[in-house]
Amino acid sequence: MSHTAEIPMVPGSESPLELKPIKAVDPKAVYHRRAQRLLSLAKDSPLADYFELCRRVVAIQARLAAEADFGQLLAWGKDEAIPLSHLGSEADSYWQGLLQQLLSDLLPQVDEDMARVLRLLMQQSPEQLTSWGSALRQGHMSEVPARFSLFIWAAMGVYWSHWAPMVIKRIDQRKVVQQNLCPICGCHPVASVIVDQPRAGLRYLHCSLCESEWHYIRAHCTSCGQDKGTTLWSFDDAKAQVRIESCDECHGYTKMLFVEKSPLMDVAADDLATLMLDSELNAKGFGATTVNPLLLAHETEQ
Ligand SMILES: [Zn+2]
Ligand SMILES: [Zn+2]
Repeated sequence: MSHTAEIPMVPGSESPLELKPIKAVDPKAVYHRRAQRLLSLAKDSPLADYFELCRRVVAIQARLAAEADFGQLLAWGKDEAIPLSHLGSEADSYWQGLLQQLLSDLLPQVDEDMARVLRLLMQQSPEQLTSWGSALRQGHMSEVPARFSLFIWAAMGVYWSHWAPMVIKRIDQRKVVQQNLCPICGCHPVASVIVDQPRAGLRYLHCSLCESEWHYIRAHCTSCGQDKGTTLWSFDDAKAQVRIESCDECHGYTKMLFVEKSPLMDVAADDLATLMLDSELNAKGFGATTVNPLLLAHETEQ
């Protein structure tokens, strides 16, 4: 269920202070920054091996985003609220082609145990992959074998993030209403980013699949939408640029990244590097309402 509320904006205004309800993001730039960030965060992480696997996957995503064949976008919903949510079988065959390229690139870079997983995934039928991809995009993470999810999501991400900026250019942003799922592809956010342009302290949610960012009013729960009671948690200095907003109503929480103070931060990498904050919030009875493309472990119920 999506919460909706009108985003306040002036139609046709060209004020430099006017905020964009949806921001297109260059996927190549996102993947390059994410790979760099994973490399630097791995140094201090007890999960260094996993960071390195993710970095290799993201580096391949960056290459595919620059070089792959994406065909044409035939079946997107020009008049629909979420134009990239139902793309049909042609999209499935393209992202599955990207998956095969990603797996072949990764295969020589992993140990034998991981290579077995990759080969097994390469042998799955298109129908099986279509069904798993659809389950992941709907947030039904437990319907897909956990060892495959990272790679399936990575391939779908390359496809969806390629088309998202072109679709964003062609939609009427004045019709966009605030919502807790991505207004372009319908997937969950990874986290919030707090930016200071065009106005200080604006919050955008960053999509876990298509990498688009959409505006969401501060101090409104990004899961249930209520604005009566949220709590902002901040932790020690080392992680001070990552804070958590929890909701007194639905007991969900979302991380907020203050990227102006630390422009090298990346939503997926920094979420992964601050899992200890999740443990603290979980211990207080709160649950994550977000999806991390590098850690598809959360079962979401929306
Ligand atoms: Zn999206
Ligand atoms: Zn809530």
